[in-house]
Amino acid sequence: MTFNENADISSGKVSRRGGGRGMKIGGGAGGGAIVIVIIVLLVQHFTGVDVSGVAGGLSGLQGQQIDTSGDEQLQCTAAEANKDANCRIQGAAALLQDYWSKQVQGYTDPQGIVIFDQSTTTGCGAASTDMGPFYCPTDQTIYIDPKFYDELAQQFGEEAGALAQLYVIGHEWGHHIQNITGTMKGKNLSATGASSDSVRLELQADCYAGAWIGDAQAETDENGQHYLNPVTKDQIADALKAAAAVGDDHIQQATQGAVNPESFTHGTSAERQKWFTTGLNGEPVDCQTFGIPASQLS
Ligand SMILES: [Zn+2]
Repeated sequence: MTFNENADISSGKVSRRGGGRGMKIGGGAGGGAIVIVIIVLLVQHFTGVDVSGVAGGLSGLQGQQIDTSGDEQLQCTAAEANKDANCRIQGAAALLQDYWSKQVQGYTDPQGIVIFDQSTTTGCGAASTDMGPFYCPTDQTIYIDPKFYDELAQQFGEEAGALAQLYVIGHEWGHHIQNITGTMKGKNLSATGASSDSVRLELQADCYAGAWIGDAQAETDENGQHYLNPVTKDQIADALKAAAAVGDDHIQQATQGAVNPESFTHGTSAERQKWFTTGLNGEPVDCQTFGIPASQLS
């Protein structure tokens, strides 16, 4: 997955939050082990709670002023988005804004995407690296520590890693769509279980990510330049592998040695692939994970 180097991605609103910048995780003897522990936590948490825990649990700082004075707006070119994970997020944001503004009447962008290092304050409370990427409905902002991306690139290789990264951003943006369209309203965000509101929200966000990625190749900037070079079947297959890797059953089996559907929050590997594919081959309107029987989720 590569960006067309002539495309203009300057509309993507992504900032890097100061403070932790320049600090290195680990370092010296034992640093590697620390990094690995953090990566395991990241993967667990992306599959654990990327909306519900935030909305339900971290209310300590809600309403407080967030210090954004050290934020630095990224100003990447499309060529840089092909080389740098942070710049790739900016490219994804430019594409997502274009796509969703055409899909949703009265659409408004998220406040932005904040790239942070180790910890930061958010409209949903304090956030740290081990939470993985998440969307905060209160301040309508996506938060991500790019160390999560290093892990995706390691697991899926550089090329697949790039598309898997877009899948993650597209998924979090999907939660923003659920927020502004009212889908989140009245839903039990801290429920767990195979057919819980949480799982339905997560599978719908996967579907929205798929719908966007399926259309992304057709998107053009203001000058008519395609944002992306054509995406290959192999790359799509790799993005599907990424969706499978973050299924509740897969993660539970790997980390606990057993699968417990009652604690599901995101759905199984098969379900995540199914709904990503539904989006990929369809439109957002096809992403109806609510109002259907549990048997139709899988
Ligand atoms: Zn999610």
